[in-house]
Amino acid sequence: MRVVKDIEEMQGIAASAREDAEKIVFVPTMGYLHEGHMGLLKKGRDIGGLLVMSIFVNPMQFGPAEDYMTYPSNIETDIKQAEKAGVDIIFHPDKDEIYPEGYQTFIEIRRLQRNLCGLLRPGHFIGVATVLLKLFNIIRPHAAILGEKDYQQFVLIKRMVSDLNLGIDLLSSPIVREHDGLAASSRNSYLMPKERKSATSIYKALCKGHELFEDGERESRHIIEGVRGILEKERLISVEYVKVCALDTLEDIYNIERKALLAIAVKIGRVRLIDNFVLGT
Ligand code: AMP
Repeated sequence: MRVVKDIEEMQGIAASAREDAEKIVFVPTMGYLHEGHMGLLKKGRDIGGLLVMSIFVNPMQFGPAEDYMTYPSNIETDIKQAEKAGVDIIFHPDKDEIYPEGYQTFIEIRRLQRNLCGLLRPGHFIGVATVLLKLFNIIRPHAAILGEKDYQQFVLIKRMVSDLNLGIDLLSSPIVREHDGLAASSRNSYLMPKERKSATSIYKALCKGHELFEDGERESRHIIEGVRGILEKERLISVEYVKVCALDTLEDIYNIERKALLAIAVKIGRVRLIDNFVLGT
């Protein structure tokens, strides 16, 4: 396994893989690897070819009051875990390598950012799309894998890949959860023991929504009420949103007639956590 920090070196590796007709499979991350990332890497390894993982904490996707400066990192542990997961190349550039002095080009995916996290984190998805397009241009993958935990991100990037004719097979990988249902996340490491305990309500709330749906409830507001009921019992949780929306357009749905996304964002102390569940089969 090689750790590459330099864009030109990464481009050279990508060019020779393509010359050799080797498939390049790419998993972008911000590091501080956990089981969620491992799920993506396993899927990548199963596809075969050259498995490239990026570790880059992208300043452009954090708002001014967000946790860019304190985002957890442990590159040595990440390298060991990546090696075990069968990663061939870790692309780990510095901030100035990606955004040199004078950088001024941004990618905006318009409508899909107007709900869910896009509403509450202005500019977040511009940062995500910009860095991913840059990484796609540097790594030139045939396939890329994103997690369904960040469902809106997946839908937006799929749109970008199609709108800009990038010719990348964009795949998703299911949410990986800890033993008590909490979705694995680098940010879980911020939680104090009491907060970690409260965080289990996020999954319980999603299960409540699922249960209501399975019992025949089709009005989103009733499902949302049930979900909020569970979350609001927890003193340490403040709800940012609970929404039911369309899987493709991400627009709010009032009556559920086909598969729909039940999505949650909460804050526990200063820690922002998101999770979701697809209703219907
Ligand atoms: P991050 O390092 O948080 O930017 O995440 C990198 C990739 O891992 C993204 O595509 C995430 O959606 C995905 N990911 C993070 N946590 C999970 C999880 N618990 N289950 C599945 N995918 C995840």
